[in-house]
Amino acid sequence: MSIEENVKRVKEEMAAACSRCGVAPGSVLLCAATKMNDAHRVREAIAAGVDICGENRVQELTEKLEQGAYEGCPLHFIGRLQKNKVKYIVGKVELIHSADSVELIEVINKRAAAMGTTQDILLEVNIGGEEAKGGFAPEKLWEILPLMADFQAVRVRGLMAIPPICENMEENRPYFRAMKQLFVDIGAKKYDNVSMDFLSMGMSADFQAAIEEGANIVRVGSGIFGARNYNCH
Ligand SMILES: *Cc1c(COP(=O)(O)O)cnc(C)c1O
Repeated sequence: MSIEENVKRVKEEMAAACSRCGVAPGSVLLCAATKMNDAHRVREAIAAGVDICGENRVQELTEKLEQGAYEGCPLHFIGRLQKNKVKYIVGKVELIHSADSVELIEVINKRAAAMGTTQDILLEVNIGGEEAKGGFAPEKLWEILPLMADFQAVRVRGLMAIPPICENMEENRPYFRAMKQLFVDIGAKKYDNVSMDFLSMGMSADFQAAIEEGANIVRVGSGIFGARNYNCH
């Protein structure tokens, strides 16, 4: 299957999931997880109609940006972000999905302020309570949300989650549902500098379930580009 055919299929499956839960098709954005795919393949995905490119590694993003890989498409950062790499991406990406500590948000804020810009971020939530994964514990969110008012060069635009790896997409449905509940509850509280616009969850194996439970950005890699061959890199 070509990238073009894959994008078409994923979009059809997204539209079907939207209609199953009564949301307008087109209200959910397709973020192509472009890691380990070169500029040529990224351009192919953009031409096929993905809404966003999501990059995982700062160095890869920087290289592909220099090659003009993302032209005509919004660029997001979706991978784990180290504080010392923040300077390379603030102002270059529309949205950072993976803000996972107050210290990191402080650094993003400082950099954005110095550049005279505002950086949109999502708070990553460790919804599966997995030790190896980043993200705020759900109960911790209530402690840190009031602090966001101090970060005037950052805007919290929503939540992101990477639930445990699953064998079938039904297994993650409870996590997606819990994320949607947090999204609604936080939105109702009206914290300064916080708006719940984007709920980023669902990958190749489970994006339909994520959409049915309320995702409005899904991040799809292998479903668009095929299996990644880690041995090549
Ligand atoms: C790679 C990646 C994805 C996409 O994963 P697939 O299973 O290939 O669809 C989504 N989100 C993040 C953060 C990723 O790193």
